[in-house]
Amino acid sequence: PSTFIKTFDTPAYKGTVTIPLGLYINGQFVDPVEGGTIDVVNPATGKVVTSIAAGTKADIDIAAKAAKKAYKTSWGLKVPGAQRGKLMSKLAVLMEEHIAEFAALDALANGKAYNTAYGRDNKGAIAVMEYYAGWADKINGKTIETNENKLAYTRHEPIGVVGQIIPWNVPMFSLSLKIAPALATGNTIVLKPSELTPLSALLFCTLIEEAGFPPGVINIVNGYGPTAGQAISEHPLIEKVAFTGSTLTGRKIMEAAAKSNLKPVTLELGGKSPNVIFDDADLEQAVKWAIHGIYFNHGQNCSAGSRIFVQEGIYDKFLDQFTEEARAIKVGDPFSPDTYQGPQVSKTQFERIMAYITSGKNDGATVHLGGKQIGQEGYFIEPTIFTECQPNMKIVKEEIFGPVACVMKFKTEDEVVEQANDTSYGLAASVFTKDIDRAIRVAHALEAGTAWINCANQTEISMPFGGFKQSGIGRELSEYALENYTNVKAVHVNIGIRL
Ligand code: NAD
Repeated sequence: PSTFIKTFDTPAYKGTVTIPLGLYINGQFVDPVEGGTIDVVNPATGKVVTSIAAGTKADIDIAAKAAKKAYKTSWGLKVPGAQRGKLMSKLAVLMEEHIAEFAALDALANGKAYNTAYGRDNKGAIAVMEYYAGWADKINGKTIETNENKLAYTRHEPIGVVGQIIPWNVPMFSLSLKIAPALATGNTIVLKPSELTPLSALLFCTLIEEAGFPPGVINIVNGYGPTAGQAISEHPLIEKVAFTGSTLTGRKIMEAAAKSNLKPVTLELGGKSPNVIFDDADLEQAVKWAIHGIYFNHGQNCSAGSRIFVQEGIYDKFLDQFTEEARAIKVGDPFSPDTYQGPQVSKTQFERIMAYITSGKNDGATVHLGGKQIGQEGYFIEPTIFTECQPNMKIVKEEIFGPVACVMKFKTEDEVVEQANDTSYGLAASVFTKDIDRAIRVAHALEAGTAWINCANQTEISMPFGGFKQSGIGRELSEYALENYTNVKAVHVNIGIRL
């Protein structure tokens, strides 16, 4: 395979990054069987940066077989947890050594601010790898009391070969979130990064062998969803699939899993998270968190607080301050140190978001701020605020995945809880109030996998993350994620029963 060499001479990062462009299968970079490629575009300019190898069904098959062989011979139950953890720790150290290059590649292909890619995504990815390295020798079953003639216990065994499919919004964080718990529990992996942000994953591949992983334990195959992604979902040797992405794709993956070998599926899907702000909230803090809630990562956050409900007593004040802060957001070059918001990830996403803005206008909502493209080049969109929104409008119902907030007025707690829950999603929800009883009551009443009180968009590695309703199945992060990657075996040892 060829190599991509890129020299960055930017205010945020200066340096040269070199990565091989092939598929990483069985410890080697290889060309795809069918020889396909994917153009990687810089969303700040709309120009092609490079072309990478695109795998298809045939490559996934080779990768799955390599992963199966590695599982049987050099990973899984063959390698003690402490040893697995050691390799993972080494991998985390190598990731840290290359963090600036990872951040540069993610800023280049995703358009996110270099500082965000560095300080949030990649720092987070490393911390996740370290966290699960610590779990690798703590995957314990239980002894279970039955009767004195029997010793009964459980083992949490690895599943085998697991398939993982990730999106583009936090590329390295998603990758680590998937790979780390699977490795800690002894599985081998076939992972497909997003076709929009494949570069940092290729850099990651260059570190796997150096960290000491046997060939075939981690296989990373770039490719498109309907080909390589679909092949993962339906491959008979792949015994579990974990996916993060849109609800639409999640449905297809479940279907493919059901039609093939009935592999268990975990899904982290979309959201339309409510952010409920009561009259007695700390207004300044509520405004700042609401800004972070919706505009962080250009609104390309599954847990973005895109429906902001404000109680009537502070509605006007909130809207004024929220608008002022949204107007002050620095949108621009991802490699400029003070940029908060870069371009949207792709032309498709840009057009999708602009179509939602048009639909909001056509449905009668008011564009209170923004609503337009910025400049002519790249996929930049103004931080946008809609007011006068009605519950049945598309902009209120559907996930926009862009810098677009709907601000709505409410009167009572009962009314807002009902409106907030009037969605097919259930990923996250925020509530802002100084009344402790109400804070907890509302947090419990909101139908979401995560509830934030007086904050928004928070994750902790040691806290579970995942969705209610159509936002997903299963939990990532924390000890809970380990359950996604183990089979529980019940062992009955007869120490005295006689027939
Ligand atoms: P997407 O569903 O289009 O793509 C995600 C991944 O799935 C990509 O790797 C893609 O190639 C692959 N894919 C596409 N079609 C496939 C198919 N038929 N079979 C198998 N794989 C396929 O989503 P996206 O546009 O990349 O990401 C945005 C979406 O992801 C948003 O809806 C967002 O809410 C969601 N998301 C959720 C979380 C979460 O944790 N809940 C996190 C990030 C993003």
